[in-house]
Amino acid sequence: MNALKLGCIADDFTGATDLANNLVRAGMRVVQTIGVPAAPLAAEVDAVVVALKSRTLPAAEAIDQSLQALTWLQAQGAQQIYFKYCSTFDSTPEGNIGPVTEALMDALHTDFTIATPAFPDNGRTVFKGYLFAGHVLLNESGMQNHPLTPMTDANLVRVMQAQTKRQVGLIDHKTVALGEAAIRERIQTLRADGVGVAIVDATSNDDLLRMGPAFKDLPLLTAGSGVAIGLPANFGLQPSLQASQLPPARGLQAVVSGSCSVATNGQVAHFKALGRPALAINPASLMHGHSDAVVQQVLAWATPLLQDGPVLVYSTAEPEAVKQVQAQLGVAEAGALVEHALAAVARGLVQAGVQQLVVAGGETSGACVQALGIAQLQIGPQIDPGVPWCFAPTSTGGVHIALKSGNFGTADFFSKAFTVLT
Ligand code: ADP
Repeated sequence: MNALKLGCIADDFTGATDLANNLVRAGMRVVQTIGVPAAPLAAEVDAVVVALKSRTLPAAEAIDQSLQALTWLQAQGAQQIYFKYCSTFDSTPEGNIGPVTEALMDALHTDFTIATPAFPDNGRTVFKGYLFAGHVLLNESGMQNHPLTPMTDANLVRVMQAQTKRQVGLIDHKTVALGEAAIRERIQTLRADGVGVAIVDATSNDDLLRMGPAFKDLPLLTAGSGVAIGLPANFGLQPSLQASQLPPARGLQAVVSGSCSVATNGQVAHFKALGRPALAINPASLMHGHSDAVVQQVLAWATPLLQDGPVLVYSTAEPEAVKQVQAQLGVAEAGALVEHALAAVARGLVQAGVQQLVVAGGETSGACVQALGIAQLQIGPQIDPGVPWCFAPTSTGGVHIALKSGNFGTADFFSKAFTVLT
């Protein structure tokens, strides 16, 4: 078997799928594993994306899991390591982007890496070190209200510097525009100045394609999924529009949404406006050990409706409502309670015959995929940038599953997704 070209560690499950999607479209054969596999790689692929759920763990646990993933990827012969985080740089001053980056740098014995969440196809651009989401700065995009990782500063040099002992610098758009040689030269200068991590500007896919060759010799890259589009060419692979084939879709259809992002709120509203059945879970109703009973009620509601098309179960709420629940339960407790309930709903829906499942929310997707016992995903056609359909083989024939990161997807995503499969 060929040695692995690119070994990727993603800090959440939707992000892993987003990265795998970009690598597949740029010509790589990719498998996404859920967690660190126990056995060596069986498939002949160019890249493996190990999907962790480490974004909001205590930093020490995130480091531990990331290093385990690194060890496994190195054992499969990975020539370069890619640490993938969210295109909105989801983190807090405690981490986990900074601490995990440092730990991977130490383990790989490298004094320098880059960091850029840029993903222009999804409106995430970095200019002079400032991250934009669409037309506004990150901290005006709704991300300042994120339940777990509120992003209140768009200056990534500052955000990253708060999370790492290494000095943080910038490779700005002027340098990126000049191409490979200029970027390499800038890296040399930054290194000589003692900079360990450089934020990199990118406002277009052309920027990402220009930086790809300049990063060829770096043992570690840290980024959103965007940088991935320029890497397969370093290994002699050409972009391929031919999305990988998945087995034909079967079974019933459902959406489970635990994301409270602006885009997801819009998608829930759109689905309801279509007249499709939708049921909200109120986090407060899950308290005091009532979660199991609520899940049973939800499944009893959904099961007869599934025959007539997709149903939606959601905890998605506007920022004010989320804040109220968090004040009542605590941020972590509210998140865990909702994730646990939605994961149980997802499991129940699959047991009721759902074989086409859309999950909205990074953390929510992680919880659902774990509850479904999925170990590996094959990456298929893209629904919207960053969100492909995937196929997970199971003992009952397999589930098509789409893991949608909070802010991704058009307003009609929850209905459109199923038409992509047919
Ligand atoms: P995104 O991809 O939008 O960041 P995530 O699923 O990663 O979505 O994060 C959303 C978090 O908010 C999860 O931990 C989820 O359980 C929690 N959550 C979902 N609904 C609510 C709610 N109504 N109130 C409080 N927390 C919620």
